[in-house]
Amino acid sequence: MKCEICSTDEATTKSNGVSVCEWCSKAAKETRRIAIEEGIIEETTQDRLEYLRGEIEAERISYGEVAELESLSDHIDPDDVVLLLWAGVSEEERERRKNR
Ligand SMILES: [Zn+2]
Repeated sequence: MKCEICSTDEATTKSNGVSVCEWCSKAAKETRRIAIEEGIIEETTQDRLEYLRGEIEAERISYGEVAELESLSDHIDPDDVVLLLWAGVSEEERERRKNR
C-alpha cells in the first residue's frame, strides 16, 4: 500500500481515510497540533485523545491526564486497546463495546 502523501510503499496507517506512512502521519499530527496551539483550528475530542496517546508513548502522562482519559473513554475506538487500557476500561467492557 502506497502512502498517498509521499508515495513510498510503506503506508501503515489511515489518517482521515487516507493511507499514509508513519512519517507522514506524524508530520500531519504535528502540523495539526501547532495549528491548535496557535488557535487556528479548534481542538476536537479525537485530537485530545491523540495528544494523550502521545503523552503515553513518550511515557510522561500525568495523573491529571489519565483522569482526563478516563472521562473521555466513551469516545475511544473499541479497537484502541492502548488508550482503553489507560482509561481503565476492562477487557469485558472492551468486548461489550465492540459488539455494540
Ligand atoms: Zn508518506
